[in-house]
Amino acid sequence: MRSHLLNDLTAEHYRRSVTEGVERVAAKLATTDRPFTGVTVDALTPRIDAIDLDRPLGDTSAVLDELEDVYLRDAVYFHHPRYLAHLNCPVVIPAVLGEAVLSAVNSSLDTWDQSAGGTLIERRLIDWTTARIGLGENADGVFTSGGTQSNLQALLLAREEAKSDSPAKLRVFTSEASHFSVKKSAKLLGLGQDSVVPIPVDHDKRMQTVALARELERCKRDGLVPMAVVATAGTTDFGSIDPLPEVAELCARFGAWLHVDAAYGCGLLASLRYRDRIEGIERADSVTVDYHKSFFQPVSSSAVLVRDASTLRHATYHAEYLNPRRMVTERIPNQVDKSLQTTRRFDALKLWMTLRVMGADGIGQLFDEVCDLAAEGWKLLAADPRYDVVVEPGLSTLVFRYIPAAVTDPAEIDRANLYARGALFASGDAVVAGTKVGGRHYLKFTLLNPETTTDDIAAVLDLIAGHAEQYLGESLDRAS
Ligand SMILES: *Cc1c(COP(=O)(O)O)cnc(C)c1O
Repeated sequence: MRSHLLNDLTAEHYRRSVTEGVERVAAKLATTDRPFTGVTVDALTPRIDAIDLDRPLGDTSAVLDELEDVYLRDAVYFHHPRYLAHLNCPVVIPAVLGEAVLSAVNSSLDTWDQSAGGTLIERRLIDWTTARIGLGENADGVFTSGGTQSNLQALLLAREEAKSDSPAKLRVFTSEASHFSVKKSAKLLGLGQDSVVPIPVDHDKRMQTVALARELERCKRDGLVPMAVVATAGTTDFGSIDPLPEVAELCARFGAWLHVDAAYGCGLLASLRYRDRIEGIERADSVTVDYHKSFFQPVSSSAVLVRDASTLRHATYHAEYLNPRRMVTERIPNQVDKSLQTTRRFDALKLWMTLRVMGADGIGQLFDEVCDLAAEGWKLLAADPRYDVVVEPGLSTLVFRYIPAAVTDPAEIDRANLYARGALFASGDAVVAGTKVGGRHYLKFTLLNPETTTDDIAAVLDLIAGHAEQYLGESLDRAS
């Protein structure tokens, strides 16, 4: 069994094993002609249940054959140009290489004595990101597992910085279109059920600052404490960007912590043409960025950044076995002092490899291309009488709904759209997402693949219309 341990004696086994795996994946990528096979839960479950985990195959090739059957053949492939569903990007090769390196070396970024250069590389990338945002000289941050954790940590810091005699008085303001992790964080932080105050959005799905001002006034008047405003720079559904400068003004006036959730919009930090869309982000107290969304990085790669490094102390605990207090005076850099996690992956290496091979402009160019594609897609949808499209894209999503000429019942239109999404998924021809707008079912394209073309978009719109019409035809038959 020792031959499976990765060490000086097994370097050749490691090379062969990993190369074989890489070969399989490369072959898969080269021959995948659809984003999905349409496999069902019922079809796949017995195949996976049939594997006896107490009877190992022993041999890498046999296991890779088996993996083809239980996973690779029917996986959902984000690199395919007709995968248009969630905020998953195709990944860049330098980052995948970084992934291979970081898992083999297996540094853990909690302490210097488990990572050495890894810690310094992560710190450089944090500094690089805070400089891109413009958070100033005292900024800091740490890599996290994702936007959800980044938002949680930011709100933890905001809670600790808020001046209140009771957590029950704390209020968090965020738009109706913000991410659900804001509410989840409030719950985890022991804030009350009413602690998150939803702020209405305008026609473009951006937070209405007049309404925000009104709610902040009300909060003060009621003797409550405005703990934080969470502005979104790129809402998950619409890519809409809240008016950051105005929100920042209000935060300053009412003494509220400004958190900017740029999990999606962070790609603009590298943009060559659209950086101005997130003007005002530099005034945040904390920022969430998900490199695994708009920097073309593999899951996970994310960070939380703060304007004032000292606020990260709210996440600091000293353990004698790991990061004793004396190490702070000895200036030993232990990233665990800033993190909610302890053992932590060296995800930063992926971004490092990306920046060193491609440069930030390379990433920004790819992100600009998907924003342009969304603008083209919007024109197609706006000119297409079969579809109602909600707003012009703020980044790279399109939310729309099939509207048949002959049907007026909104519930029937809902069902036709739901059916079309399901039928498309089952066909594997394309994968799209869905959401609700004004209580009605809509479909969503999240465009993060520069290889997707307007022809792909047009073709998928035809497929959706075909499925929806089929549903409505059958529905008529059922009725008669
Ligand atoms: C995706 C997303 C999140 C959550 O990020 P994860 O990396 O999935 O945890 C938070 N906020 C916004 C706006 C998002 O789009």
